[in-house]
Amino acid sequence: MPNFFTAEHEAFRKSVRAWVEKELTPHALDWDRAGIFPKEVFKQAGELGFLGINHDAKYGGSGLDFWYVVAFCEELVRSTNAGVNMALLVQSQMATPIINEIGTDEQKREFLAPALAGEKIAALGVSEPGMGSDVANIKTTAKRVGDDYVINGSKMWITNGTRADFITLGVRTGGEGYGGISLLTFPTDVKGFSVSKKLDKVGNLSSDTAILFFEDCKVPARYVLGEENEGFYHIMTNFQGERLTGALTTVAAMEQMVEQAVRYGNERQAFGKPLIKFQVWRHKFVEHLANIEAAKRLTYHASELYDAKESPVKEISMAKLVAGDLAQKVAYDCQQFYGGMGYIEETAIARAWRDIRLITIGGGTSEIMKEIISKLVGF
Ligand SMILES: Cc1cc2nc3c(=O)[nH]c(=O)nc-3n(C[C@H](O)[C@H](O)[C@H](O)COP(=O)(O)OP(=O)(O)OC[C@H]3O[C@@H](n4cnc5c(N)ncnc54)[C@H](O)[C@@H]3O)c2cc1C
Repeated sequence: MPNFFTAEHEAFRKSVRAWVEKELTPHALDWDRAGIFPKEVFKQAGELGFLGINHDAKYGGSGLDFWYVVAFCEELVRSTNAGVNMALLVQSQMATPIINEIGTDEQKREFLAPALAGEKIAALGVSEPGMGSDVANIKTTAKRVGDDYVINGSKMWITNGTRADFITLGVRTGGEGYGGISLLTFPTDVKGFSVSKKLDKVGNLSSDTAILFFEDCKVPARYVLGEENEGFYHIMTNFQGERLTGALTTVAAMEQMVEQAVRYGNERQAFGKPLIKFQVWRHKFVEHLANIEAAKRLTYHASELYDAKESPVKEISMAKLVAGDLAQKVAYDCQQFYGGMGYIEETAIARAWRDIRLITIGGGTSEIMKEIISKLVGF
């Protein structure tokens, strides 16, 4: 595989690793138990330039290539806390890229710049109680009244939802179907907005996922992102970065799980020898390593195309599908290898096993990836 990382990428990788190991990993368990992590983490990440890696330098980003984002994702999983990882990636690679790409100067100053600095928390609001996969069926309405939109409806599963300062929000501004959807920047201090509930999840415990309500919320019409009724297209474009970073963190998480398990297997003894010396396990882990390498190459291939500003929808969908499904098997086997130790919260593999379940659901399910791929290959 070609080496996509220069000395500069590696220096950046080192700085991410140092921060993650010092500021995130030691708190992994406590933050999961608390069901939240300190807001300060956003601020720290912003100050270190980790929230605006590939964003416009004019608004506080670093304008770097995508391989820096790859390095960031790979190092972030060392936190062993998928909740904080997801929150930071929602902020940097899901809620803000579309503002960076098509926002007005005003939107970039008001929303993008403080988000990249970690001063404002961002969320992406697409899913609703009645729909997740079927994005063309968004029901939350934004009615044009003079120079404003008046928003009514609700959003569900919104990461960073309980404390977001703004939401990159999908709304219905036109008729039914994908042609009537717009994206807009929504400041959460608007009257009529409320957080209905923080959801009690089975994994990614430290990230706050919420149900949100909008009751006659008035925002200026100039907050629309791009053209009115072209939001579906922008949401689909935005999904590519979300799915690719999802695949990248999943591949890195799998590598980490096997690495941890093999280390454990060298120490733990049974029937007079280290666990790893049992052929059944060595074969299992070797098989996983081979499959992880294949998933990594596919994900890097998608990253290469994405970095070249091509539109590798098929490759990204395949990468998320392959990495997501493989990760379930890898996590199961690694956890099994730990025996009882794999079933307690203190063991990172136990947390990784429950957290990795999300990847085949969030950001587009495995079934939706298959639907996209089948359309693109023509059947
Ligand atoms: C922890 C968490 C965080 C999230 N964060 C966010 C966020 O920040 N912002 C946001 O907007 N959303 C977020 N989501 C929502 C997430 O993207 C959706 O859950 C996901 O897209 C699936 O939608 P759904 O839950 O409504 O499932 P549904 O769409 O109801 O699907 C249910 C099942 O039916 C299957 N299915 C649906 N359509 C088809 C089809 N055509 N063919 C075959 N099978 C099909 C699905 O694959 C799935 O298995 C989050 C979800 C979770 C769990």
